[in-house]
Amino acid sequence: MIKNLKLAASRPDLRRSVVDVNGIKVGQEFVVIAGPCSVETEMQTIKTAIAVKKAGAKMLRGGAFKPRTSPYAFQGLGLKGLKILDKAKKETGLPIVTEVVDTRDVSWVGEYADVLQIGARNMQNFSLLREVGKSGKPIFLKRGMYSTLEEWLNCAEYILAEGNPNVILCERGIRTFETYTRNTLDLSMIPAVHTESHLPVFVDPSHGTGILSMIEPMSLAACIAGADGLEIEVHIDPASALSDKEQQMPIPLFEALMEKLRRTQAFMEELNAQAQAFTPEDKAQEAQTAEETASKEARGAKSPHSGKAFMDAVD
Ligand code: PEP
Ligand code: MN
Repeated sequence: MIKNLKLAASRPDLRRSVVDVNGIKVGQEFVVIAGPCSVETEMQTIKTAIAVKKAGAKMLRGGAFKPRTSPYAFQGLGLKGLKILDKAKKETGLPIVTEVVDTRDVSWVGEYADVLQIGARNMQNFSLLREVGKSGKPIFLKRGMYSTLEEWLNCAEYILAEGNPNVILCERGIRTFETYTRNTLDLSMIPAVHTESHLPVFVDPSHGTGILSMIEPMSLAACIAGADGLEIEVHIDPASALSDKEQQMPIPLFEALMEKLRRTQAFMEELNAQAQAFTPEDKAQEAQTAEETASKEARGAKSPHSGKAFMDAVD
């Protein structure tokens, strides 16, 4: 149990929070947020927005302020980028998820964003957390690349403590000794967050792996592990992207992933419904049937499930 969490800790009745984003119930329905790493042009953003919406994404992501390793790399279009996102929203109806990196920008970025993203590099920027807390807007809080679950949940606590209950967490991979992948995507954080907190948790397999071919298997795994949603980078022409070109999904791959996600969700719903139907009375009934079959077998009667195969079936 993580101590000292007052507002982010799981509730005694285990009720989970639902964050409402323009009618989309995050935490209740599985939500895919998709779009380019960076907003580059109006054409690129709007075409991507239309395509991801058609494929089933419920929100559009896109960076107008890009925290880059090099100060000489593309830093984002700023206000111009936000205006492009606004056009994409008008065109598609998709709510906008975009990163804010500076306390001074929170209020005016909030005029364009439906969800304010706090990036991994700013997870522990406490003044920024307080400021977005005051904004009252839904906040997408990414896990810092060197952060423990306890540190991450304490950052959510900063936002909640300002009176803003609308926090969505996002696992995006951490730095480990493994350098094959861009980061080590820690899917174990999905059940960990659901145990320790009532907040919804998403997974970002794009930054989490940095490898295009790994995005689909990690997305499906996250869905099976109980993630509340995914944030995925998609670009109409990844080869020409101004940032993260290796990991952005081209549209056809994203469409195929969304179809597999729909089937995975349906499978999980069925599995969970079956598990719920499998009540203690059913188990007692099954144990009784097994006992009767065993005693018949001992008396020489043949069972359709006789022998070890039957034992395997009830194991
Ligand atoms: C992003 O989602 O645009 C981003 C920069 O991700 P992260 O903060 O997780 O690196
Ligand atoms: Mn990116």
